[in-house]
Amino acid sequence: MNDFDRQHVWHPYTSMTRPLPTFEVASCEGVRIRLADGRELIDGMSSWWSAIHGYNHPVLNRAAKAQLEKMAHVMFGGLTHSPAVELAKRLIGMTPKGLDCVFFSDSGSVSVEVALKMAIQYWHNQSRPEKNRMLTVRGGYHGDTFGAMSVCDPVNGMHSLFSGSVREQLFAPRPDCRFNESASADDIAPIEQLLRRHSGEIAALILEPVVQGAGGMWFYSPDYLRTVAHLCKQYDVLLIADEIATGFGRSGKLFACEHAGIVPDIMCLGKALTGGYLSLAATLTNQRVRDGISANAGVLMHGPTFMGNPLACAVANASIDLLRAGDWQQQVAAIEQQLQTELEPWRDHDSVADVRVLGAIGVVELTHDVDVASAQRRFVDAGVWIRPFGKLVYLMPPYVIQADDLSRLTAAVGLALDCS
Ligand SMILES: *Cc1c(COP(=O)(O)O)cnc(C)c1O
Repeated sequence: MNDFDRQHVWHPYTSMTRPLPTFEVASCEGVRIRLADGRELIDGMSSWWSAIHGYNHPVLNRAAKAQLEKMAHVMFGGLTHSPAVELAKRLIGMTPKGLDCVFFSDSGSVSVEVALKMAIQYWHNQSRPEKNRMLTVRGGYHGDTFGAMSVCDPVNGMHSLFSGSVREQLFAPRPDCRFNESASADDIAPIEQLLRRHSGEIAALILEPVVQGAGGMWFYSPDYLRTVAHLCKQYDVLLIADEIATGFGRSGKLFACEHAGIVPDIMCLGKALTGGYLSLAATLTNQRVRDGISANAGVLMHGPTFMGNPLACAVANASIDLLRAGDWQQQVAAIEQQLQTELEPWRDHDSVADVRVLGAIGVVELTHDVDVASAQRRFVDAGVWIRPFGKLVYLMPPYVIQADDLSRLTAAVGLALDCS
């Protein structure tokens, strides 16, 4: 099987002719990934921020099976169904007040495309079609489709590779003020200057609130976010919060915007939305955006085939109910505490540049790039699943992980420190 895989199946961000190794998975249960050769790995990644309740969860399985007996899918054009309507109710009820319209799509990147389109169509419909560029901060990640790529960090996002194909957007420096610091005038000045000079052509500011994920696993000051949200109002620019990675409790708040007490005009959700079961995303808007796009008989020009997929919506409803009925706050706080205690000692290692923890996210930044193939082999031999990128070795386990399993993950981080 592995030979066929190697020769014929693309995997993310790896060569087809000299691919990184892959390990065959037979099944998963709780926080364990079972390989086809019988080995068991403790999951430190939650399958890229998504599997917050662990794998093969009886409640989520039951929700999927029950919906499957009714319908797996039906088109959303001209038809509607209770899994989608119930999910919209839940999302409107749990996100910051004011976000009360929901557009469902099939992946995070698409939800970002939809958000960008919404912002552009909003201004178009206010007879301001020249307001069609995006402002963002460096170090961000918003997905792999072209619109989303245009607002990813220009270096990490390899804009040079796609120059001419991605729209040139406006970039402020990465917010360097850390989570527990306040934002200084120096932190704010560059982005304010961009807003002052370019607000006439900017449709929206898009950013990941407080936690930058795949662009560098960086946590920045909620004070910066609060100030920048205020500037958006002042310069009449919409604010898009990409909560695809941070949503549903990962940063210690249900949504990372809550750290700053702000409400964006548009919010993107994905990843943990279905507890890691199925691909589903949502773009939420406030009344201003809804009414602005809908004025003069305007309609939002988007409609994916699998929009509002009932199976995915049913699992999302069950996942949200599970989250709200459980003690995720307590679980995430305990993970945060343990990550802090057990990762901090790695700071003394010669190859470690920084250690940072927020919510159920722990990051060890090295002074050099990690050789992923050899690090991964060592991790698997040690019975853990951790996938570093660049200089970053990081952990974001399912919220249900037990303390002894988490200790095995934090100890295993040491295996990567000399993999270069
Ligand atoms: C993963 C991610 C995306 C893209 O989501 P996909 O489902 O992979 O398309 C967008 N924004 C952020 C912040 C993400 O972490």
